[in-house]
Amino acid sequence: MKLENIIERILKNNFKIKDIISLLSLDNKDDLEVLYKKAFETMLTFTSGKIHLRAIIEFSNYCRKNCRYCGIRRGNKDQKRYRMSSEEIISVSIEAYKQGFRTVVLQSGEDLYFTKDKIGDIIKRIKEKVDIAVTLSVGERDYETYRYWKMCGADRYLMRIETTNKDLFKKLHPDDDYEYRIRCLKWIKEFGYELGTGIMLGLPKQTLEDLANDILLFKKFDADMIGCGPFLPHNGTPLFSEKMSDVNLTLKFLAVLRLVMKDINIPATTALGTIDPYGREMGLKAGCNVLMPNFTPVAYRKHYLLYNNKICIFEDANKCYQCTLERIKNVNLKASDSKGFREHS
Ligand code: SF4
Repeated sequence: MKLENIIERILKNNFKIKDIISLLSLDNKDDLEVLYKKAFETMLTFTSGKIHLRAIIEFSNYCRKNCRYCGIRRGNKDQKRYRMSSEEIISVSIEAYKQGFRTVVLQSGEDLYFTKDKIGDIIKRIKEKVDIAVTLSVGERDYETYRYWKMCGADRYLMRIETTNKDLFKKLHPDDDYEYRIRCLKWIKEFGYELGTGIMLGLPKQTLEDLANDILLFKKFDADMIGCGPFLPHNGTPLFSEKMSDVNLTLKFLAVLRLVMKDINIPATTALGTIDPYGREMGLKAGCNVLMPNFTPVAYRKHYLLYNNKICIFEDANKCYQCTLERIKNVNLKASDSKGFREHS
């Protein structure tokens, strides 16, 4: 089957899982160029074509869980732990707004010190002060908590599933139940958040069929944002000796995702920029339309290492912002000045 025909079928929403697997299997340079070009054109056609910026604030690296790939898992006793105060989180969010961001992503490990009320209060106080979208990325909670945070003004919720292969999910997440994760994602969607989820690519024992199934599940959920990054081992985890993923698998996945879910928001992640110095630019050229510069105060950044060699941990917030704008310019695109909600086509 010709590559162009497969792409056409996917764009017309008339495809089978084997079509996705064929695209994920491509390894010829010319074929990959065709795939990335088509994904880029799709991004330009079905979104505003501008790149949305989200300021990430990593406000606590305490975590009650022990995910086997993650550097801040509770079992990593070498990890120095920190929590920002509510006041600090609010003032850094206001600073992000003043710098030009229209979304903050408040991210942490699963830290129950930050209760339903504490996070609700932070959201309300940010919203009272500045007109900025608030994305939460704080893991699994209960039905009532998600409902309450939405009422407090949260706009988006980001919770990756990492893989939809249930056996692999169980092996990677000793504390988690796959069905509960799915239930959380459904609640989040039901309460009217923009739903962000995603996976890690190149995990040990993950197959192309798993990746194709991930895409099909995201489509079924009608997720609004999908964040994916390559697997990068961390030396404080049980997976430290596993092979690091490669940039091409991530780029292929992102491009196919764009063809299948044309109008969603897809970030070119920091992990992509870690595996290759031009990874984020390559991501934009393969259909991504979001960048998420690190806005965590520099003193904390080096303690929020989910994987080894994470980039952008010494630069101050302004430098990260300017560097991000430069990267967008380098690929002849423009930064958006909106809150960057999904523009349903
Ligand atoms: S992936 Fe998230 S939940 Fe799992 S250990 Fe890391 S921070 Fe905690």
